[in-house]
Amino acid sequence: MPYLSAPIIFPITSPPAYNSVLAVNDNGIIEGIYRLDELQETKIEIVHYNGILCPGFVNTHGHLELSWAKGLIDESCGLDAFVRQLENHRKSVSESKVSDAIQLAASEMLQSGVVATADIANGNQTLDFKSNTKQYFHTFVEVFGSNPSFANAIFEKALLLKKQFAEHDSLNKVSIAPHATYSLSEELFKLISETENPNLLSIHHQENLDENLFFYNGSGPIADRRKAFNPDVQPFFGTGKRPMESIAAYFHPDQKLLLVHNSVSEQQDIDFVQHFFNQPYWCFCPNANLFIENRLPDIELFRANNCKITLGTDSLASNHQLSIFEEIKTLQFRFPNIPLSELLSWGTINGASFLGLEKQLGSFEKGKSPGVVLLENIDTQSLKLMPESTSRLLIPAL
Ligand SMILES: [Zn+2]
Repeated sequence: MPYLSAPIIFPITSPPAYNSVLAVNDNGIIEGIYRLDELQETKIEIVHYNGILCPGFVNTHGHLELSWAKGLIDESCGLDAFVRQLENHRKSVSESKVSDAIQLAASEMLQSGVVATADIANGNQTLDFKSNTKQYFHTFVEVFGSNPSFANAIFEKALLLKKQFAEHDSLNKVSIAPHATYSLSEELFKLISETENPNLLSIHHQENLDENLFFYNGSGPIADRRKAFNPDVQPFFGTGKRPMESIAAYFHPDQKLLLVHNSVSEQQDIDFVQHFFNQPYWCFCPNANLFIENRLPDIELFRANNCKITLGTDSLASNHQLSIFEEIKTLQFRFPNIPLSELLSWGTINGASFLGLEKQLGSFEKGKSPGVVLLENIDTQSLKLMPESTSRLLIPAL
């Protein structure tokens, strides 16, 4: 049984343990945390690490199928240009490049300490990989389409894809999720709400101000894109309301919903969501937000409202790596007042709780098997991360 010691161990659900030893059995199950001096007299062999030990990370937003687009898209070009560039590149990418990129990205993500991932799928490109790996994925088969006359066909296709994912891998989970607040017809939203409750849902939310404008009066770049892709669809004149308030009727309040990005969310958006939904989760992807829009959500506002925060990486089209620890580093550099323990809880237990895996993952508690991650090159006195700080998986999860 491995006994691992480090200057600091973050169990996450209890205060940090200093100069302690983490006991993990051969199946990766946590046996306990002991004081180093308690064990020093025994003959137990202890492996010492110079850094911080924490549980495996949970990435609550990725698009593994877009890994081929690493390094192809211009930074800070805005969401509209990002979508257009991605569509252009998509035409020339080969199937083998797509599957090689998925393998590589997933393996690097695992090595960086991510032990479970909520992954968006628009197609079946990740199916083979997910069927043959021990890494945990919750796949969100994503649907979009503003034309109501295509809603049934789009949903049928999604059901088929969902079945494929479910059949190929009984360990992992899958549900059908709406792409964004603005990209589905009412009919398509209703099909999801009829069949997917009580499954987990995820939705891209308020990535930039265009979304607020679209719902306010039906104008702006989203309206233009909607018209370009769906020339036959009736124009949308807006609701005069905020995005989530405009579509909340299509959801069940008890449904576990993950809102992804929230870059321009304000108090009124938070008030509405926290009041309407019983289990809302707010997922931030800071490195992707900086990559695409060069702005970050008002994180302090979410903290002040006691929102349940999780972290995601988005895809390699808009990120340099799929590492939750790199997202935590960015947040600590930009918001130095947020304690490291809190940032780690967003990247571990909160994500595990969203996925319904809080009994196995997310913290060092007896009986759990959350994986063990080593954080190195950290000032362990001030608990400040540095640009050269790294994370790596020592013991896998589950
Ligand atoms: Zn995304």
